[in-house]
Amino acid sequence: MRGAPVVVIVGRPNVGKSTLFNRLTRSRRALVHDLPGVTRDRIVSEAVGPGGRSITLVDTGGLLLEDQDGFIPLIRAQAEAALEGAAAVLLLLDGASGLLPEDREIAGFLRPLGVPVVPVVNKTDRKLVEHQAAEFFVLGLGEPVAISAEHGMGIAELWEALEGHLGEATEAEEGEDSEAGAVRVAIIGRPNVGKSSLLNRLVGLPRALVSEIPGTTRDAVDVLVERDDRSYVFVDTAGIRRKGRTDRGPEVLSVVMARRQLERADVCLILIDAVEGVTRQDAHVAGYAWDAGRALVVVVNKWDLVADRASARAAFEEQVAQQLKFARSAPVAFLSALTGQGVDRLYPLLDTVHQAFGLDAATSELNRVLHDAWRRQPPAVSGKREPKLFYAIQVRRGPPGFVLFTNFSTGLHFSYVRYLENTLREAFGLAGVPIRVMIRGRKR
Ligand code: GDP
Repeated sequence: MRGAPVVVIVGRPNVGKSTLFNRLTRSRRALVHDLPGVTRDRIVSEAVGPGGRSITLVDTGGLLLEDQDGFIPLIRAQAEAALEGAAAVLLLLDGASGLLPEDREIAGFLRPLGVPVVPVVNKTDRKLVEHQAAEFFVLGLGEPVAISAEHGMGIAELWEALEGHLGEATEAEEGEDSEAGAVRVAIIGRPNVGKSSLLNRLVGLPRALVSEIPGTTRDAVDVLVERDDRSYVFVDTAGIRRKGRTDRGPEVLSVVMARRQLERADVCLILIDAVEGVTRQDAHVAGYAWDAGRALVVVVNKWDLVADRASARAAFEEQVAQQLKFARSAPVAFLSALTGQGVDRLYPLLDTVHQAFGLDAATSELNRVLHDAWRRQPPAVSGKREPKLFYAIQVRRGPPGFVLFTNFSTGLHFSYVRYLENTLREAFGLAGVPIRVMIRGRKR
């Protein structure tokens, strides 16, 4: 589900943003959680409407410091970054307390941004009286949708109103396939790690034919590079180039931005600062990429600032293995975006990882590899029954997913599944690729 349109919930404190967020994303796994520096534990998640339409939902409640006076300037500085590129905004209002001056202020702030706004009146379980409903029309944003986030009322109508604004995004999503076969790359990392310097280097290399193409969302610009008969799309480069925004807000915004980018990418370059080493935030961002099923290449930038490279290299490889455990197989590139040293090696690396990402394994080869591994080290099981692997098939590509049919109905220990994953990774050259292995038990 690449390029799900971003929908942002805004509204003054206590109108129920978080409740609505939870209602809409209910039963969906949170993709961002436990972020340092934010009060809420979730701010971004997938949500799927009754018609099957997917969106990426952002709750600005988690981005705002609600207990401070003058939260409007804070919205400007911080929510603006989240609103950038959004397909629609849900402006949440409070039917119980009626229209307040802050609501008008927020509406006034949203209007010039040109993002479609759906006014949503919450807490209507507490009896929305006629004149209050009329009040909300005054905002000039069209007919408000009446809901109760807490009791789940009006949610279908809310989706209906929202989906009317997602139509354009759909076309753009389809438009992405016009660069079929291209390696789609997201460059992610903390502010000042060198993302925009690296982008400039990559597009500035000899033999690179560069063109800009509009991305999925308003304001997004992708850069298409054609080089040696291959195409690469660097997604959402506008966010990389427009400096300052992510620096001003809490670091969590770089996560929001990264999320948006990597949804539309196959391969993710996660930049690490050679001087600062791997930080928790780096691990967080790399973790989203991995969980979202994107291939990873770790790029250690500012390598020109490192004196003793041989020992630093070993130390970095160790750090990556320790702190990015999930991605310990990911290739690590050492380079300097500033001097250009090592940058040309990235393109071949992208090719390799992208090819692995799109692996289409021959069933016979797959079964040979897995049966060998199974024989070498059978799973430990209680009981007398001999553990059997019947056969395996690849069920998806990009990233590869496999289903193994066994005589277990209870599944296998995760450490054994890990062993099988590592075997596949080794055999098929899947370094940096988040493969999925599912075990199906059945009785014979
Ligand atoms: P971004 O915020 O991640 O896009 O980072 P920038 O590309 O704007 O870089 C931030 C700062 O780091 C700038 O001053 C760059 O000149 C500097 N920088 C970027 N790459 C390198 C590098 O490889 N070596 C050194 N020494 N400085 C770098």
